[in-house]
Amino acid sequence: MFVSAFARASIFRIIGKNRMNQSGYLTLRIQRRFFLFLLLPLLALLEGCSTNPATGEQNFTAFMSQEKELEIGQQEHPKILKNHNGVYERETMLRYVARVGSLLASHSELPDLQFHFTILNDDIVNAFALPGGYIYITRGLLALAENEAEVAGVLAHEIGHVTARHTAQRYSQAMATNLGLAVLGAVVGNQAVSQAAGFGAQAWLQSYSRDHEMEADQLGVRYMTRAGYDPKGMETFFKKLEKHKRLQSLMAGKDGKEEYSLMSTHPRTSDRIRQAIALARKNGAPDGARLGRDAYLAIADGMLYGDDPKQGLRKGRDFIHPDLNFKFTVPPGFNLFNSTSKVLAKGPDEATIIFDRADPKLDHRDTPMTVYIRDFWVPRLAVNGLELLSVNGMEAATAKAVISTDNGKQDLRLVAFRHPDAVYRFAFVTPPQVTGALETEFRRTTYSFNTLTEQQRRNAQPLRIGVISVHKGDTPQKLSSTLPFEERKLEWFELLNMNLSHRDLRPGDKVKVIVH
Ligand code: ZN
Repeated sequence: MFVSAFARASIFRIIGKNRMNQSGYLTLRIQRRFFLFLLLPLLALLEGCSTNPATGEQNFTAFMSQEKELEIGQQEHPKILKNHNGVYERETMLRYVARVGSLLASHSELPDLQFHFTILNDDIVNAFALPGGYIYITRGLLALAENEAEVAGVLAHEIGHVTARHTAQRYSQAMATNLGLAVLGAVVGNQAVSQAAGFGAQAWLQSYSRDHEMEADQLGVRYMTRAGYDPKGMETFFKKLEKHKRLQSLMAGKDGKEEYSLMSTHPRTSDRIRQAIALARKNGAPDGARLGRDAYLAIADGMLYGDDPKQGLRKGRDFIHPDLNFKFTVPPGFNLFNSTSKVLAKGPDEATIIFDRADPKLDHRDTPMTVYIRDFWVPRLAVNGLELLSVNGMEAATAKAVISTDNGKQDLRLVAFRHPDAVYRFAFVTPPQVTGALETEFRRTTYSFNTLTEQQRRNAQPLRIGVISVHKGDTPQKLSSTLPFEERKLEWFELLNMNLSHRDLRPGDKVKVIVH
């Protein structure tokens, strides 16, 4: 809906700008329909191009003005925050990223555009830009960086997407190639699907074309060298991303959020980044410019790594929420994903567990949990097997139903708990052929739901990045032995410290580790 309403508004403006005189509003209204179906393609060809501020080339941006870009940025910003656990409120780091970003932006072709740099409180590794100068970088990405030039490389690339107006081009091209409802439907559909799942890219954040990636790299290298950074930071960080992706998929219980990462929103190859750097060198970029290792490590020391306990901690198959005072365990083979409003666990054969809290505005203190399920949670579903339970001293209830989804009929098992502070609930969704096999495991998950002991609450501490000095006799093996990973500790250590030569660690060298 959002996209189609927006398309109408843009068409209105194009006509208004190009075809109207001062007294022409009446004519406009009459002719609007004509333009839509007959004249629009012609208009687009005649008037749709603008001079790209970054590249100086003529680009087709008919369906999105620079004012509109700013409007989209402002409008989408709160949604981005909501989908990524808000801002990572670490004052020193926010100021640092804003300073590096502003320095780069001041060397761009749009030095007067008000850029906004935000660190998202999300442990996925990603960075992206909204039109209008909104640049986002996750704390998951910052935990991997080793020096200022690597951070600058990511920010400069995103600034490049903004200054070259890639979103406006992509959007306008999509609109011109096919004004039919199919395209709008697809865009709106994707957005609805990803929002329903609680995370995922918005339509504005879908991946860029290879040409746009190449262009953003070239512009990024340009801004880096102008600002005095060694553009090699862009290359080393990209290598790190490739290694991170490999390592994550090698680990047992790999994180499915990988699908939405810097690699997927910005598809590119190390080859192209090297080309961009070679080109910059040929054009007179200085060698041996600033890397800023010490400056960055001082900032990164102590930053959160992995889950923020405020949103709940995933530890293997356990989910623990110290603030809301509960925990539960999902079956073997299920991977946990945490979003702002719910916790998902994906298992084999599309089996899914959805955990969330009933609307806290409604007071269910006097509602039996059986009545809650039937009359408040799923009033429009025909439930059967409604049953009252007692789970770890809490009143609970369960029921079954069958639902129709895009993937056909699915079995639904519902469980609601009266926790001391709120009503919490599980929805177990399974294709009918696997329901029976998972029944016992789902019962175990149901009975694992409990409040926390004082000890468990104390143990629910987040992980942090620590910067330590190498002592005489320290080896990568020794330093990696304390990392909180089940396996491949040495590889994680090498990933966190990729720019150091590991055969030759010298006393006094600073390295990153992960600490409790
Ligand atoms: Zn990109």
